[in-house]
Amino acid sequence: MHSTVMPAIRSAKGSKHPWFRRRALIVTKHGKERVIIPLLQHTFAMHVELLLLDTDVHGTFTGEVPRTGSAKDALQRKIADAFPFADRGDIVVASEGSFFHDMLGAVDVELVAIHEVGSESPVVGKCRSYDTNAARFQIRDDLALQRAIAVIGLPSHGAVLRVNGPVFEKGIHEAQVLKRLAQEFLEEGAAVEIESDMRAYHNPRRMRMIARACADAIRSARVFCPACGEPGFRVVEAIAGALCEWCRTPTTLAKAYRSACRRCGFESVSETGTAYVEQRWCPYCNP
Ligand SMILES: [Zn+2]
Ligand SMILES: [Zn+2]
Repeated sequence: MHSTVMPAIRSAKGSKHPWFRRRALIVTKHGKERVIIPLLQHTFAMHVELLLLDTDVHGTFTGEVPRTGSAKDALQRKIADAFPFADRGDIVVASEGSFFHDMLGAVDVELVAIHEVGSESPVVGKCRSYDTNAARFQIRDDLALQRAIAVIGLPSHGAVLRVNGPVFEKGIHEAQVLKRLAQEFLEEGAAVEIESDMRAYHNPRRMRMIARACADAIRSARVFCPACGEPGFRVVEAIAGALCEWCRTPTTLAKAYRSACRRCGFESVSETGTAYVEQRWCPYCNP
């Protein structure tokens, strides 16, 4: 990826940033603060207070409380939950993850939002990765049980046990405990399912993605809008159309990036710096 920040755009580190030494509140329940707080302290020397709100009211991974709306909506609701406590910190940090399958497998998308109270929208960092153990298994025999344990990655990662549908227990890390429970229920003739526990505290892989999403938010918060000075000026669109080096046909690869300000709407377009791309990306040469 080429640099998308034009020289005219100001960026700031540490003590020159308006967020330096500010008081922040982090809305969490599942231990995500363990990776987020050190990043905020390191970059902005923020004083971060943990706000232990029951974020599960906005949806749980195991479906007891279904999430309504998108991950971004859930993020907005978590941020709004912290507004009554703004006297304790006027920068609110929240995160939200979602998991789904695409053609290549399970995908984890993590969002971390940093919201300055009074501004219209948060600076949102994102990390999208296939490095996830998100999976669900129907257990009928020992082989399936072994496979579930291996894929989920016990004991470092937790498992959820479902019996005849509902969750029987979450956060199981000991393979022996999970085996014993599953075998007991199988002997009773129950329908046994095992899934990965996606709560961050029970899922180190997910925790790493949350750290990356947070780093992405920090990176974008360090770039300011050239028009109004708001932090978080960032790329919002890759403009396709880089030309094939052989036949000059436009490809789906980016020829430029469009960046936009969340506050004033100022936009700028920067070229990728690569005029032509390899023939293998060409819809004409390599259909
Ligand atoms: Zn071509
Ligand atoms: Zn602006």
